[in-house]
Formats: sequence, structure tokens, C-alpha cells
Amino acid sequence: MPADDISRARSLLQAAGRVLVFTGAGVSAESGVPTFRGAGGLWKQFRPEELATPQAFARDPRLVWEWYAWRRGLVAACAPNAAHEAIARACGRAGVLVTQNVDDLHERAGTPDVIKLHGSLFVDRCSRCAWSGPAAPVDATSEATLPRCACGALLRPGVVWFGEGLPEDQFERAGHAAEACDVCLVVGTSGAVHPAAGLVHTARAAGADIVVVDPGETAFDAIAAVKLEGGAAAMLPRLF
Ligand code: NAD
Ligand code: ZN
Repeated sequence: MPADDISRARSLLQAAGRVLVFTGAGVSAESGVPTFRGAGGLWKQFRPEELATPQAFARDPRLVWEWYAWRRGLVAACAPNAAHEAIARACGRAGVLVTQNVDDLHERAGTPDVIKLHGSLFVDRCSRCAWSGPAAPVDATSEATLPRCACGALLRPGVVWFGEGLPEDQFERAGHAAEACDVCLVVGTSGAVHPAAGLVHTARAAGADIVVVDPGETAFDAIAAVKLEGGAAAMLPRLF
């Protein structure tokens, strides 16, 4: 990693009045939360695209709940890393955080306000009515033991599945932040999931400089003013 790139990124961030931090699964990878696309992203023989869909839940709600119960347990046993902590400090000053992650590691690191585009692992909601609430323990041994709403329908995880719309209030706030930022710092996201990834292009079109931290290739590399190829936990504390 050329030291030059780090100091360029640091001066862009220091000069910026408003910073938008946009994170994906990679920011939590070093906490032990697997990304979907990297090694460890598979559960049993399934790919996330086969489980994180409304169709999968309609077909086999027990299987989908078993996977989410496993993910809840996995995330609960993880702790925020140095990247979550650096982001929390930066957002306490002049930043806004938008995440695609459904884990709660940004919240646990103390980020004052987390805009969550894809919902939360730790929320339950009704598959039929508008009810939602904090996640309760799930017994996924059979369909009969799955949690149900007072209205009688199955509860489901409070996350956004492939093919579903984003929560409008969160997406609208994220869009305003993208239009208003001077620097958009993108951490640990491949940029493959839309419309979330479009926010970075919105920021760029509005004149922001894009800084990318990711050890792999991303959809934003071509529009980045600086690309830092490295792990988030090592890089972020060096930026702020
Ligand atoms: P993705 O799996 O498409 O991309 C992850 C990115 O992280 C890759 O570009 C990879 O190179 C990078 N990465 C891997 N290790 C890293 C590290 N140590 N530091 C920095 N970057 C690292 O993930 P995505 O773009 O977030 O999209 C996947 C979707 O899956 C999201 O919508 C999200 O809701 C969901 N998801 C969430 C979690 C979570 O909440 N932690 C985990 C997996 C998937
Ligand atoms: Zn209901």
C-alpha cells in the first residue's frame, strides 16, 4: 500500500465538511461475520440467494428461519472491530453512516445514527400485517414451532430480501446524505447489490470524491479518487 494513497485519502477526509460512510459486509468480516460472496459465505449447501428471498420463505419458512437463527447467534458472538470503532468516532464529528449490513456492530461500536438500508437481523416482522418488534428467540425445529404474529401469520426476519424494496425512509435519508457529502468513503462492499450501490454514483455525480477501502475488486474502483486495497480494521484507524 503506497503511503501516498493513505495520506491523500486522509487529506480528502480532513478537508471534507461532510463525509458519508457507506459500508457492506466487508467491514464486519474481520469481526468474524462472513460476507455473502467470500469464502465462508455458504451455509450448509445453500447460497444466500437461495435463502434470502420471499420465495424461499414461502417454500420453506423453517429452513429460512434456521439460517437466520444461526446468523443471529453468529453475530451475537462477534464484537465490533477497529473499523467500526473508527467509523463511530468519525460519524460523531461530521459524518453520516449508511450501511447495507444487517448485523448490529456499527450500533454496538457507538455510531450515533445508523441508516440501515437492508433492515436488521435483530428485528422480527409479520409476513402479512405491519407489525414489527425486537427479535425473540426462534425454535426452528418444525414449521409448527415458528413464531407467529397476533394476526395469525408467520413472523419473518426484519431484513430486506433479494427482490424486495428498501425501507423508503432510510433510502430517502441516504439519498440526501449522498447528494450533500463532500467525500463518500466506501468500505467493504462489492457494489453488486442495487439500488444500495447507486448511492455512491449519486454522491459522485453530485461532486463528491470517492474513497474505497476494500482488499478486492469493487464496482466503484473506476470512479474512486483513491482506492485503498486492504482490510477495513487495519485501514480505517489510519484514516481518521
Ligand atoms: P459482498 O459480499 O458483496 O462484498 C463484500 C466486500 O467486502 C467485497 O468487496 C470484499 O472484497 C470485501 N472485503 C472482504 N474482506 C474485507 C475486509 N477485511 N475489509 C474490507 N473489505 C473486505 O457484500 P455487500 O456488498 O455488503 O453485499 C451483500 C449483501 O449481503 C448486503 O446487502 C448485506 O445486507 C448482506 N450481508 C450482510 C452481512 C452483515 O450484516 N454483516 C453479511 C453478509 C451479507
Ligand atoms: Zn401480523
